[in-house]
Amino acid sequence: MASSSHPLRVLILGGTTEALALGRALENTFDLHGIFSLAGITPSPHLPHIETRQGGFGGIEGLATYLHAQGIGAVIDATHPFAAQMSRNAVAACAQTGTPLLRLQRPGWQASPDDNWIIVPDIDAATAALGATPRRVFLTTGRKDLAPFRAAPQHHYLIRSIVAPDPASLPPDHTILLQRPPFTRESETRLMREHRVDILVTKDAGSDATSPKLAAARDLGLPVVMIARPTLPPARTVATVHEAIDWLHGLAHAGTRRDV
Ligand code: NAP
Repeated sequence: MASSSHPLRVLILGGTTEALALGRALENTFDLHGIFSLAGITPSPHLPHIETRQGGFGGIEGLATYLHAQGIGAVIDATHPFAAQMSRNAVAACAQTGTPLLRLQRPGWQASPDDNWIIVPDIDAATAALGATPRRVFLTTGRKDLAPFRAAPQHHYLIRSIVAPDPASLPPDHTILLQRPPFTRESETRLMREHRVDILVTKDAGSDATSPKLAAARDLGLPVVMIARPTLPPARTVATVHEAIDWLHGLAHAGTRRDV
């Protein structure tokens, strides 16, 4: 059982607003010791005031070794819904080491009757959905997912990214915007008007910080190519930081039972 002298050691796999909020919530808990982990890609990330680490673990085996060596009593997978590799590794490594795992994942966005969404299963399908006629595309899929759009060079791409994309991944006709969320409905509408955008491409991130682009597209009557979330192996899942904290407290007070 965790106690103030031996708090439950919790690995938070981060990269989302929810992960950061959870890390902050563990700053002053006596029964939980949070360790906040990032892939280490984003420069100057927001960090909670708890123990942090950055960089990959080295696949399933590397993560399993880390969990064992660090005496981790619980893992919270609060990675982005499209960070599928990390989520798969977490399921496998936790199963291998008997470490309780909770996935903290916000629900996906829901279309309203006024939306015109074209839902596609992956990036390649999103590229195909743009069609043959040249269009002005607002591309918000992240810098790792740009290369497939090189196969559709007839379009102009307004590419928004937090970090500058690799030039080799860029389609030929593009404009780059380096911006970090949150955004507002007004600023998104203005941006799409200024750049004469006629279609938006996004992943179903489900985040409030980036959803204003959907409202702006609706206001402007623009279609949205919505890339569906990848399928992940099953794991106990909650949608809110509050539920994750409840689960952790339950675990800390029950001891690190293998069946929790
Ligand atoms: P990914 O494809 O699932 O992960 C690739 C590799 O990066 C993982 O196998 C792991 O390396 C390492 N990694 C990922 N997340 C990590 C974490 N929190 N702590 C330590 N290592 C981590 O992930 P991704 O799509 O590249 O995303 C990377 C990070 O950016 C994630 O933390 C994610 O939450 C965040 N993010 C992703 C997106 C997106 O659209 N994909 C959007 C916003 C934020 P090892 O195998 O060596 O352990």
